[in-house]
Order: sequence, then C-alpha cells, then structure tokens
Amino acid sequence: MSGRQEKEKGVNVQVLLRCRPFSDDELRSNAPQVVTCNDYQREVAVSQNIAGKHIDRVFTFDKVFGPSAQQRDLYDQAVVPIVNEVLEGFNCTIFAYGQTGTGKTYTMEGECKRAKSGLNGELPQEAGVIPRAVKQIFDTLEGQNAEYSVKVTFLELYNEEITDLLAPEEISKVAFEEKQKKPLPLMEDGKGGVLVRGLEEEIVTSASEIFTLLERGSSKRRTAETLLNKQSSRSHSLFSITIHIKEPTPEGEELIKCGKLNLVDLAGSENISRSGAREGRAREAGEINKSLLTLGRVISALVEHLGHIPYRDSKLTRLLRDSLGGRTKTCIIATVSPAVHCLEETLSTLDYAHRAKHIKNKPEVNQKMMKSTLLKDLQGEIDRLKAEVYAAREKNGVYIPKERYYQEESERKEMADQIEQMGLTIETHEKQLEELQEKYDVQVRHCSDLSTKLAHTERNLLETSRLLANTEEELKKLRIENALSQQACALRSDLEKALKDNASLFDKIGREDQLHSENRSVVNSFQSELSQQIGCLRSIVANSMSQQDEHLQCVGKLCHSFMQTHDKVVKKLKKKLTNTRTVYASHIEALQNVVRLHKSNSIAGLDEMSTLASSNAQSIEDYLASEGVQAAAVFDDLRNALSAHQGEMAIFARELRQRFNSSSEQTKQISDYTDGFLCKLMDQSQTIQNHVMGVDNIQMNSIADFQKAYEEQCKSEADKLVADISNLLSNHILRQKELVNTRLDVLREAAVENRTFMDGQVSSLENITTEAKRKWKEFCVQAGSEAKDGADYSAAKHCRMEILLQQSVTNAESAFQHCKKTRDSVNEMCTEHVSSLSTLVRDATENIEQHDAEIDSARTAAEQDVATNSQDILQHIDGMSAQERESVSGIVTTVEAHTKTLETFREDHSGQAAVMENKSQETFQQRFMDYDPTGTTPMRTEPEVPSKGTIESLRAMPMEALVEEFRENNSYDSFEVKELKPSLIPRPPLAQLN
Ligand code: ADP
Ligand code: MG
Repeated sequence: MSGRQEKEKGVNVQVLLRCRPFSDDELRSNAPQVVTCNDYQREVAVSQNIAGKHIDRVFTFDKVFGPSAQQRDLYDQAVVPIVNEVLEGFNCTIFAYGQTGTGKTYTMEGECKRAKSGLNGELPQEAGVIPRAVKQIFDTLEGQNAEYSVKVTFLELYNEEITDLLAPEEISKVAFEEKQKKPLPLMEDGKGGVLVRGLEEEIVTSASEIFTLLERGSSKRRTAETLLNKQSSRSHSLFSITIHIKEPTPEGEELIKCGKLNLVDLAGSENISRSGAREGRAREAGEINKSLLTLGRVISALVEHLGHIPYRDSKLTRLLRDSLGGRTKTCIIATVSPAVHCLEETLSTLDYAHRAKHIKNKPEVNQKMMKSTLLKDLQGEIDRLKAEVYAAREKNGVYIPKERYYQEESERKEMADQIEQMGLTIETHEKQLEELQEKYDVQVRHCSDLSTKLAHTERNLLETSRLLANTEEELKKLRIENALSQQACALRSDLEKALKDNASLFDKIGREDQLHSENRSVVNSFQSELSQQIGCLRSIVANSMSQQDEHLQCVGKLCHSFMQTHDKVVKKLKKKLTNTRTVYASHIEALQNVVRLHKSNSIAGLDEMSTLASSNAQSIEDYLASEGVQAAAVFDDLRNALSAHQGEMAIFARELRQRFNSSSEQTKQISDYTDGFLCKLMDQSQTIQNHVMGVDNIQMNSIADFQKAYEEQCKSEADKLVADISNLLSNHILRQKELVNTRLDVLREAAVENRTFMDGQVSSLENITTEAKRKWKEFCVQAGSEAKDGADYSAAKHCRMEILLQQSVTNAESAFQHCKKTRDSVNEMCTEHVSSLSTLVRDATENIEQHDAEIDSARTAAEQDVATNSQDILQHIDGMSAQERESVSGIVTTVEAHTKTLETFREDHSGQAAVMENKSQETFQQRFMDYDPTGTTPMRTEPEVPSKGTIESLRAMPMEALVEEFRENNSYDSFEVKELKPSLIPRPPLAQLN
C-alpha cells in the first residue's frame, strides 16, 4: 500500500498476543494447560472440555509470542519498527492489556529495574519494552550524531485521578495527603489534544537514567491486595517519551522533528465480581472498570463505525484519544495465562484483542517546526509562566478560591465541549442546507428545459400533419411502380445466368485445347519410351536366355556327377553291409562261447557247493558227537567236584565247630585267670594300705618318741647348765627348741601328706581294679553270646551251602540234557540243509540247460533275420539306384526340351517386339488425329447488365419500412424535426431516373 493510500484508508491497529509460562504456583498445583500458541502460524488455540464436549477456539493475531518467547524476542520483532517510526516523527502508542498477573508490567517494564545495565551498556535479559525502547532511541540518535532532546513523563490513572509518578520526592512526601485529594487536572490544549497540567517532564540524557526513573515511578504505583494477585496493580500507568531532533535544511534554517511514544500498562482486565473487590475497594474497582469499560466501548464504536465515539467518558480514553482511531500508530499487546483457572478471562481477553484488530488509524507525521517558531512558542510559554509566578508572588493577579476556580474550570470545560458540539451541529446543518439549495437549482433548470421542449413539439406536430397528406398521395403512385421493378429484376437475373453459362463454356473450350496439346506430347514421349523399353526387353530376354542355357548345362553336369557319386556310394554301402553281417555272426559266436563258459562254470560251482554242504554236514555231525562226549565228561567232572565240595564243606563245618568250641573254652579260662588276677590285685592293694598305715603309725610314734626324748634330755642338760649360763643359755635353748619343733612339725606334716597320697593311690587302684573286673565280666558274657551266635550263623550258612550245591548239581544235569538235545536238532538241520541244497543245485542245472537251448535257437533266428534283411537292403539299393538313373535321364531330356523351347521363345519374342514397335509407330503417328480449328466459334464478349441497386431504386419502399423510418427519425422525446436518412428514400417516387 503506498503512503497516500495508507493515509486515506488507514492502518489497522497491530495486535500481538503474549502467553506467559506457568508460574511456580501453577506448576505446583499441576494446573492443566488450555492455551497453545503457534508462533509461526500466528495462532492461539484455546481448548476446553465442558461436560464431556471438547471445544477448540483459534484466534489469529499479527504476532503471537508463546511462553518460551523472551523479552528480547518480543522487542526485536514487535517494538523495534514502532520505535523507528517514532524516530521518523510519528506518534505511537503501545498498550498492554490482560488479566492481572499475566505479565503486563513484566512486558512493559521488565523485572530487573534495580539491576543496572551491564558494563558495555547491555540491558539485562529481563528488561521490558520501556528500557529497551529508551536504549534504542539513544543508540540511534547517538549513531546519527544528531542534536536532540528526550523527555519522559510517567503518570498513573487511579480512580479516574491522575498522579504524577515522577514528581519530586520531598513535595510528594510533604503533600502526600493533599495530593491524594487534589490530583492533576486534565486540560484541553486548544489544539484538539489534552494535556495534564503540572505534569513533571523529566529530561533524560542517557539510557541508564531510565532505571532510576522507573524505580522512582513504580514504587509510587498503588497496588492493592486482591484474590488474584498480591502485587496486582489496580491502576493504569502511562509512560511517555517525547523526542525532539534538530534537522538542518539546505536553506540554513533549522527544523525540529518531533515524535512521541506512549507506553501504557493497563489495569487488570478481570471484572469486579471475579477480582473479589470488597468494601472500600468497591469504588476503586468500579472506577477502574469505568476506564476499561469506556476503552471497550470506544473500541466497539470504532470497529462498528458508529458516529459517536465516547472518548470523553473516561480520562483514559481522553488521554489516549489520538491512539484510537486517530493519527497515532497503535499496537496492543494482549497478555494471557496458559492455565485453566484463568480460562474465562483468557477467552474474554482474546475476544477483546481480536476485536481491537479492526480499529483503523490514520497515522500522520508530526509537522516539523522551525526552530525559531518553537523558540517563540517556548518563549511565550515562559512568559505566561513568569506572569503566573509573578502574579502568585505579588498576589496582584486575580485571586479566586480554589473550589471556585475548579468549578469554573469544569464549567468552562463543559461549555467548551458544548460549543464544540454545537459547532459540529451547525456545520452539519450548513452542509444540509447547501445540499438542499443544490437540489432546488437542479429542479428549476429541469422545469425550463421541459417548457422549451413543449413548444418545439407543437411546431413539429403541424409540420408532420402536412407531410402526412403529401405522403399518402405519393404512396398510391408507388404501388404501380413496384410491379415494374419486380419484372425488371427477374429479367436481370436471367441475363446474368446466361452470361455466366457462356463464360463457363469458353473456359471449358480453352481447357480442352490445353489438354489436347498436353496429350500430344504425352503420346510422343510414350512412343519413344515404348521403343526404348522394347529394346531393353529384348536385351533382358537375350540375357535371360543365355543365363538359362548356362543353368541347363550346369544341371546336365550336376546330373552326371551325381550319378557317378551315387554308384560309388552304392558300392561302398553293399560292401559295408556284407562286412556288418560277418562281424555280427562272429559277435554272436563269441556270445555263445561266453554263455557256454558260464554254463560250465555254474555247473562246476553247484557241484562244489553240494559236496561242500554234505561235507559240512558230516563235519558238524562229527564235531557235535565229539563235543557231546567231551561235554559229558565235563559234566561228570563237575558232578564229582560238586560232591567233593559237599564233603569238604561238611568236614570244614565240623572242624570249624570244634575250633570254635576250643577257642571259647580258652576264652573262658583266660577270663577266669584275669578274674583271679584282679582279685589278687585287690588283696595286694589292701595289704599295701595296711602296710602304709602301719608305717605311718610307726613314723608318728617315732617322731613323738624322739620329741619326748629330746625334751627330756634338754631338760636335764638345762637343769645342769642353768646355774652357769642362766639367762644367756635359756634364750639359746628356747631358740633351739623352736627350731627343732618346727623341723619336727614339717616332718610330721610330710608323713601325713605321704599317707594321704598313698591312701588316694590305693583307693584309685582299687577303683580301677573293680572297674576292670566289671568290664571283663561284661566282655566275657558278650563274647560267650557272640560265640554262640557265630556258631548258629555258621551252621545256617553251612545248610545254605549244602542246598546251593544240590541246586548246582541238578542245574548241571539239566544243562547236560539240553546240550544233548541241541546236538540232535543241529544234526537234523544239517541233513535237511544238505537235501534242499542238492535239489536247488539240480534245479539250477536244469535252468542252465534250458537257457542254453534258448540262446541257441535265438542265435539261429537272428542269423536268419540278418541274412534276409541284408538281402532286402541290397535289393532296395539296386532298385533305388535304377530309379535315380531313370529320373536323371528324365531331367536330361527335360533340359534338352527346355533348351529347344527357349530357342523358339527367343525367336517369337524378337518377332513380336518388332511387330509391337511397328504398330505403335503406326498408331501414334498415323491413327492418332489432332483437332483442326474451323474458325466459326464465336468470340468471347462481356455485355453490360444493369445493377440490382439501380433496379431496386426504381421500387418504392414498403409502407411499414417507411413508417418505421419515420418513427426512428422522429422519436417521441425529441420533438425537433430531424433530417431524413437519404439512403432509404433516395428520390421522390416517380421522379425521372436519368
Ligand atoms: P500483571 O502486570 O499483568 O499483573 P506481572 O507483570 O506483575 O502481571 O506478572 C506476574 C508474574 O508473572 C510476575 O512475577 C512475572 O515475573 C511473571 N511473568 C509474567 N510474564 C512472564 C513471562 N513472559 N516470563 C516469565 N515470567 C513472567
Ligand atoms: Mg502489573
């Protein structure tokens, strides 16, 4: 679309859709996904299951950004071109629309306002549209090395009240309460636009400053807790960037290009009941709805092309009037959540956005301003402000109370609106009046036209009635004329036909002449060709004759050579036949010899076989007889051995019993002896004990005696020495006495110990002996019983052995009988075998004899056959060669006859050819006659025929045609008499022709 068309038709609002990814909460609750985005097809599909029914809705937008789309993707694809247009001098607006929590603020501002831009001016990944746009603007402007200024404003619309988000901190802190009550007023700027009075315009000099501004502004935004989102913002925010760029012109003047970008973060689109707004916030929710509802109504009105667009119903729509159906380029970013619990709101957002696609704007570049005019404007503004300040300071201006001022202001505003509307009505009325005046003029003109037409018509009527009278008279004359002209026409057509016939006859004569001369030349050429061809034919015939002669000679020769070879072959064949016969006879002879040899061999073999069989039978018999004797002897031996065994066994058993008895006797004796030995041992131990006791007593006594004696001696010696050594010696004696006593005690103790040891030993010896005795007795008893068991067992075994021996004897007997039987049957079999073998041999010999006789007869028959066959063949060959000779002689005679026929043919042919030549000469030269002209044929002439038109012109036109023509020339709506068409009425009837 060219720029002009674009301007006239308008461009549609661009609508983008962005679907955010699942939030952590949604992921935790496993919320199902209902929105699927197809970024390439630019489609968004919403699928839902309601009461088992699956409903799919698909929306198409200008661009679609799915959950995976990054901030950068959205910016690069959708916003970069818009910012470029702003730099070109357009005004552009970007709206973010959608349910709370779907990412409007995320899209517009981004999430890392606090994070300053990177080292090389890179923006953080999460940065939204605003910082990116500012960066792009600065990058572009710096790249162009242009002189420029960038101003931003940031305001909030909350409860239909405007707050400056960039107002200096101190003031806002001090006058916070006041500000709440007295928001910034929205004023008409007198150029059809609106402006916010007192809004802070911040001049930005670098992209990085934007973070500080955003942070300052966002912190002031009001957020209130709703059921949907704690951070949910209930207010709209509008961030505007205004750019002025200086552009030098060739004339040296400086132009200022101006562009403005509005970035609008709308409040959540959810309705009041859904957001669960209660009590104090009811009004707030209502007001928000007012702005959003008005926005919706404005969109509807624009889409349906209604006359009245309710821009004035809310502040939001007043502020953004130019972005909706105005001269601004507009883009709406609709944001949705993919989760099922937002489904209803998602669908309404999609519908809303889809409808907004149909809004058309007519973007216009802002008028470039001369720098001087801008300066003048600014100067005017400064002056005005100065005056205001002065008036305020000096209090010499008009002072009115603020309430009244605002009241008057609003009245003034209303009146301005009314005036505007009235102006509009007057305009439309004037337009209507003009239209009516135009219509009236048209009607008057039409009336005068009609009256002039009427006068004309009356005049025409008079003229026409006069003409009619004339015409009627003429008509009568015309009728007569018509009959004559008809006849003339008929005659003319006859004449024309005759002339045509004449011409075609002359043509025919000419063609015949030409044909004749052509025929003449054809005949001449044919004659020469004929003679030539006859000559050719003659030479061909002569050639063919000589060739045929050659062929016939060849045939004769071939017949001759064939006969020669044939004779030779017949001779050879006969020779071969006789040879074959002799060879055959000799072969048959050899065959018979072989048969004879075989026969003698067979007979000899058979004889040998029968003798061998009989000798075999004899030897088997002999062998069996000798074997029978040996077997009997072996059996006898066996029987003897068995009986001997039996006897030995009995003896062995008896001896065994005797030995067993003696051994048990011996055992008994040993046992008795051992018993006695043990008793003795017991006695001995008793005596030892007694002895030990006695020794002990003796020892004790001797010790006691020694003690007594020593004490008595000591006493007597002491008594003796007491006098001398009284004290000294007493000590010594005491000491000696103690020493001896201790020694004696030790001695006694040793004796006691000895005795107790001996006692223990003796008692243990006694215990062992009694134990041995008891054991031995047990053993004796057991041995006795076991010996008895052994005797019983051996007796039983002996009996068993006896039985087995008996069995063996009987077995041997039966085996011997069996052997005898076997021998008899073998003998019998042998004799049978020998007799059957001899009969077989006899049969075989007879067979061989018969065979021999058959071979003999076959041989004689074969020899006879061969003789007769060879005779037949010889006769056959003779007959065949006679036939062949005959046919060859037939061929020779035929060849000779053929040669003669050829000779006559040659003669006939040359005669006929000569005749043909003569005949053709005669026919074409003498008989074929040419046409002789007589000179009486008339010459070709072209008489003149009067044209159809001239005859037709004699005729008058039929009445209907005339009437038709008249009507045509004099239509009802035109009353002017028109000139009659001359072609149809060339002359008055019955006028002179020439
Ligand atoms: P709104 O302004 O529409 O109420 P927000 O912009 O405050 O929604 O987004 C709500 C939450 O969802 C925020 O925590 C934000 O980080 C997250 N969010 C929204 N859109 C996206 C997105 N496209 N990618 C990642 N997180 C997102
Ligand atoms: Mg938000």
